[in-house]
Amino acid sequence: MTAHHFIGNARVPARDGRTIPVIDPADGQPFDELARGSADDVDQAVRAAQAAMGPHLNGPWATTCARDRGRLLARWGHAVLAQADTLAALEARDTGKAPATARNDVAALARYFEYYAGACDKLHGETLPYESGYTVLTVREPHGVTGHIIPWNYPMQIFGRSVGAALAAGNACVVKPAEDASLSTLHLAELAADIGFPAGALNVVTGYGIEAGAALTAHPGIAHISFTGSTLTGQHVAEAAARRHCPVTLELGGKSPQIVFEDADLDKALPVIVNAIIQNSGQTCSAGSRLLVQESIYETFLARVAERFRDLRTGPPSRHPDLGPLVNRKQFERVHQMLDVAREEHLTEAARGRIMEGAPAAGYYQEAVLFRDVPGDSALARQEIFGPVLVAQPFRDEAHALDLANDTEYGLVAGVWTRDGARQLRLARQLRCGQVFVNNYGAGGGVELPFGGVKSSGYGREKGFEALLGFTVLKTVSIHHG
Ligand code: NAD
Repeated sequence: MTAHHFIGNARVPARDGRTIPVIDPADGQPFDELARGSADDVDQAVRAAQAAMGPHLNGPWATTCARDRGRLLARWGHAVLAQADTLAALEARDTGKAPATARNDVAALARYFEYYAGACDKLHGETLPYESGYTVLTVREPHGVTGHIIPWNYPMQIFGRSVGAALAAGNACVVKPAEDASLSTLHLAELAADIGFPAGALNVVTGYGIEAGAALTAHPGIAHISFTGSTLTGQHVAEAAARRHCPVTLELGGKSPQIVFEDADLDKALPVIVNAIIQNSGQTCSAGSRLLVQESIYETFLARVAERFRDLRTGPPSRHPDLGPLVNRKQFERVHQMLDVAREEHLTEAARGRIMEGAPAAGYYQEAVLFRDVPGDSALARQEIFGPVLVAQPFRDEAHALDLANDTEYGLVAGVWTRDGARQLRLARQLRCGQVFVNNYGAGGGVELPFGGVKSSGYGREKGFEALLGFTVLKTVSIHHG
């Protein structure tokens, strides 16, 4: 693929001709290149999106009615499913994902388009009781041109939930995918053009965050920004947006607890708990990365988790491993740094998976690792690692479990495993986070379920119908007719 942005339904090279190599995480070798976007390229994309909206919401995309937006999204979803193998293979190569995870991402992407296709013409305002002689109504209008900054861990799913909802609500989008995972986004944009989205409704500018991403955040033509990524970058994005009063949705990751009580169905819990941390090699914002287990079953349950961890194989996507390589060298080094910290803190390693024989030495392979008895003030219990590392802690009773679970700067997701109905409800209400899963865990799942955090995990909600509200502005119209 030649390096290009996708602007106004056309492939456009970077104005200054610069490129970024695309590295295969399985062997550390370059296999493609991307356009390295600049502020000029971002400006061109924003102008294309503005033209699609028109100066007074009278452009070709702004006047595409809700029913027709829904039909386009539905067609896009079908086109995605028709190309599922191609998209999954592209994503596995670009990000190192295991093929099964990549195929799951394609299915979720298609489901986002299906969901938002059906929602387009159900998004409506209300009439409000007011004084006699008035009719007052509310209308939901698009922000205009929305900016979408996407990370590398679930490029297709995050594209689907963010861009799918924004387009459904009638916005035109400018997307800046992660420099480590842009290929599927470019492919999807071309697909959108092929099935009939008008020019400018969806534009993609590739490049580095500090260049193209920062330019998008600062562009005065962007009326709303949806950002998913690290807490620090999210802070920069929100600060830049605040300077021009631009609303932001931030989805920033977490340190999510999975709490296991002695009365839980442990056979059911075990595979879900293990999957919640190893899925996508631990590179999941809602990974269940802290395991809190009641003292009375701590030893026996931990032994079962450890046994599973020892069986986990990390290897090249082509060999269908349990865990693929980490996405890039930076992430690989970050996980290693955290494992060095674990050694300095003298943490006890309870189990480690293995790297498949013959995995290329230059690939970014990391085994799954389980630590036990990790103190609450350990860096491993507090910081998001974004790798396949699970830290276990025992707790005495419900109050202690709640203290440990909420003792974090993050608040994205929590899992609770218990058969006690009253306790399920108490904890669901007392856990400080955006989603609570009782006797299940949905790392990354649930197209229909509003998703987002509290505290350093961010604010605003994506997914479900709630996301559509965030991608609209409510206008009140008061008519005095006497
Ligand atoms: P990042 O937050 O720097 O990158 C995410 C996206 O933001 C990318 O598209 C990037 O190009 C862009 N970006 C970077 N700097 C920007 C800026 N100044 N202005 C605008 N956009 C900018 O994440 P990273 O460096 O790729 O990963 C670092 C850590 O982030 C990981 O270790 C992990 O903890 C976390 N992370 C979280 C998620 C999540 O889903 N919440 C996803 C990826 C990474």
